[in-house]
Amino acid sequence: MRDDYFLRERLEYLWNNAFNDVERKNIVKIRFKGKWKNKFGHIKKLKNNDSEIVINGYFRDLKIPTYIIDLTIAHELVHYSHGFNSPLPRLYNHPHKGGIVNKDLKKRGFSEALKLEKKWIKEEWQKIANEEFKLKQKIIAKPIRGLFRWF
Ligand SMILES: [Zn+2]
Repeated sequence: MRDDYFLRERLEYLWNNAFNDVERKNIVKIRFKGKWKNKFGHIKKLKNNDSEIVINGYFRDLKIPTYIIDLTIAHELVHYSHGFNSPLPRLYNHPHKGGIVNKDLKKRGFSEALKLEKKWIKEEWQKIANEEFKLKQKIIAKPIRGLFRWF
């Protein structure tokens, strides 16, 4: 299982290698949180003005390829560089307007990773997510003597 330390290392690596033109104007935290079927991550501004990148808790699992996590972090860093949930000047009205995130990711060398991700979501993630969420539904659907049964 991966931990938050792993995420901090990936963030540093990506910032130094693919985003070294982006000024880091505040503290940017990163951690695993939640378990989502349709969301891989997000970035938000905290009350103390730090930014926080959150990565889907399922991605702690080593069966999720590292390039998926890298791409998720890179996606959030693009938002940061565009001034969304960061102190940098806002460059667009909407964070996903006209495919700006993927365009930027391609410029930064993630074209191949984006292709792999598309394939992986179709062939692997949908299976993983369906299993996980089916499991959850079973747990709720089959209470035994007032206790939830865990499969
Ligand atoms: Zn986004």
